[in-house]
Amino acid sequence: MPNDQLSFFSADAPAQQQEEGAAHVARVQLEGSAALELDYAVPSKLAERIHIGTRVMVPLQNQRVPAVVIELLEASSHRGRLKEIVSIVGSRPMFTPGLLKLADWVSQYYIVPVHRVLRAMLPQAVRDKPESFLKDSHLKLVKEPTPEGLDKMQTRAPLQARLLEELRRRGGEANLSDLRRELPQATTVLKSLLKQGWITRAEIRVTRDPFQTEEFLPSQPLTLTEEQQAAYVAVLEAIAKPAEAKPLLLHGVTGSGKTEVYLQAIAEVLKAGQTALVLVPEISLTPQTIERFKARFFEKKDSIAVLHSHLSDGERHDEWFKVQEGRADIVIGARSAIFAPLERLGLIIVDEEHEPSYKQEDTPRYHARDLAVLRARIERCAVLLGSATPSLESFQNALAGKYELLRMTKRTDGKSMPLIRIIDMRLQRRKGTGTSIGNATILSERLRAAITTRLEQREQTILFLNRRGFHTTLDCNTCGEVVQCQDCAIPMTLHKADNRLVCHICGARRVPPTKCPSCKEPGLKYGGFGTERVESAVREVFPQARIARVDTDTMQRKNQLRDTLRDFRAQKLDILIGTQMIAKGLDFPNVTLVGVLNADTALNLPDFRAAERTLQLLIQVAGRAGRGELKGEVFVQTHAPHSPAIQFARHNNFEGFADQELEHRRAFQYPPYRHMVLISSRGKHEAQAEFTLQTLHKRLEQGLPEGTVMGEPTPSSLAKAHGQFRFQLLLRTDRIRTLARHLQSVMDTLSPPPDILVTWDVDPVSLG
Ligand code: ADP
Ligand code: ZN
Repeated sequence: MPNDQLSFFSADAPAQQQEEGAAHVARVQLEGSAALELDYAVPSKLAERIHIGTRVMVPLQNQRVPAVVIELLEASSHRGRLKEIVSIVGSRPMFTPGLLKLADWVSQYYIVPVHRVLRAMLPQAVRDKPESFLKDSHLKLVKEPTPEGLDKMQTRAPLQARLLEELRRRGGEANLSDLRRELPQATTVLKSLLKQGWITRAEIRVTRDPFQTEEFLPSQPLTLTEEQQAAYVAVLEAIAKPAEAKPLLLHGVTGSGKTEVYLQAIAEVLKAGQTALVLVPEISLTPQTIERFKARFFEKKDSIAVLHSHLSDGERHDEWFKVQEGRADIVIGARSAIFAPLERLGLIIVDEEHEPSYKQEDTPRYHARDLAVLRARIERCAVLLGSATPSLESFQNALAGKYELLRMTKRTDGKSMPLIRIIDMRLQRRKGTGTSIGNATILSERLRAAITTRLEQREQTILFLNRRGFHTTLDCNTCGEVVQCQDCAIPMTLHKADNRLVCHICGARRVPPTKCPSCKEPGLKYGGFGTERVESAVREVFPQARIARVDTDTMQRKNQLRDTLRDFRAQKLDILIGTQMIAKGLDFPNVTLVGVLNADTALNLPDFRAAERTLQLLIQVAGRAGRGELKGEVFVQTHAPHSPAIQFARHNNFEGFADQELEHRRAFQYPPYRHMVLISSRGKHEAQAEFTLQTLHKRLEQGLPEGTVMGEPTPSSLAKAHGQFRFQLLLRTDRIRTLARHLQSVMDTLSPPPDILVTWDVDPVSLG
């Protein structure tokens, strides 16, 4: 975990102190280009409105460019006359002092120029169109028309009369855009009504609220269980004394009521006049999740801001400004919400803290969970990481005493965890009794029987498979050639609905060939199966069942996922087949059976975290079964029934797994015992891409910090993607800051050929 000292924003003092006494000079960071700090004069007419974190336009050469004020000074150390700041963007600072410190840290730790970090901190809709609020006119009736008056108007000016009627019907006031829905000509008759003094009009800003149409029923705090109470008390202590408290890691089994602990802790934070930030993986940021928050904080539901990628630009813009203007007390969001400009933070929560999606896979490649811990330290607030299967990074921090470990081992309903049954698919294949295609068995005999029973008992089933499409391979009987994407080194997947082979890396599509592209012989055969194939097999076997498939192919339309889940909850569906879209955070009381059709997909990843991922997945998926009154059962189909991940998952023994796996990681010097840096090069020319990395390797060797181990450049496990060859170089170190500085200085000397891209990833979560 990041624990080096913060540097260069030396001032630890609150911003206000610095701003006392009129500042004459603002030091700014340009947004558009490399780490350039420049001083500008503050014109007296803007002095009151310029603070640390204010976005401004400054003159540079002959242009005006955006910049962020990072310091306010009495005088500049530069000699000569300073140019003046031209204008201010937005009415308040866009960055809090805490966020500027965070930006600096991210810049150094992840080796990214600070302007790139500042850019990433603002949603694009905010950066590009800071003032694009939606405007409307608010109309108010100021004179009450008499019935006779209205009658007269009816004949003389019927449209005017109708508008007055509409206004009256709405209690005397309404927004013009609403009235226009009833009365499209409203705008044209408006003028004369205004002139005659019937109504007044005020220009207002309307917020695009993604949840406007949702209805929420208020919910009451539940009486906490003993385990919840203990965790809750620990969180309260951390909130009360954040400077002394350690980050909290809440390891709570699925169904142990972690969310209830979050909700009650947040209530305390709000009571103290502070704010709370809740990070949730993008995929769990479902209407259901948001509803739980809006329902609990019903009175304040308008002060909850939601930030995630499915919002329209307008909605995201408005939600973000709700936070920036101080109208939000609670922010719920995915990864990038860690940069929400909340002030007075009392608590940061990271739910499902083990989720790989907290890692940003583009520059700046930050990990939102790690930034949560850091931001909490900067803002002096409490931080709570929660998971049923903590990341080994966090768990190790708890074991080492850097985090405080809170455990919730029981489900709130007092039920035991569902029974997990491991099905050895090697035996199944030999017996040949399952539902198969080619030599791949989709449903084992036992799983099929279990589904039959559920259908008879009117209980529901979830079938989970982390692969889209119909068939996952197509290969030649004669020469063995596998049909691959021309641009990526992976087999193409058949999507039968539109009869195309699709590349899951670059999205390329082609008509399936009838002859081998290599030896030109006919006789190609399909193999493997994805969700589309599973759906058709299950429909064949259970023609009477009501079935839906949830993956990115079927869930194209907006709200489709929400509608499907709603139908499933309302028991209008018997079987839900899906990818990880259905693996998390969903709570369906009538689901008593979960089938994991191929547990080996994650296990076979060429990644040292393969076992950890498999265990996490199985425990999460298993948590979907038996959430209500009924007991749950989980079937896990695998070809590796004795692998530790599967065996520990079967006994729901996270800590047993962690012990064993950590020992392994320590022996091989993997994270969390060492930091890792993954350097990649890619380009159209294989030799150049490789050579670039070899050059880099050579230069890094000189002055490599002690305690750092560097591998050799090798082809990445995905050796080609989007037409580019990929190579990688892995480093492991116990001195990440020193290595970062070394890396930075070497990078500065490297000038790769123009079409070769070199990237680096500090603490990578995927090694593809
Ligand atoms: P987790 O997030 O740990 O998987 P949830 O917060 O989703 O668990 O809680 C599981 C279920 O238990 C939810 O339906 C929730 O309403 C219920 N629950 C939580 N706390 C309590 C409690 N103290 N008493 C009764 N039910 C509870
Ligand atoms: Zn491709």
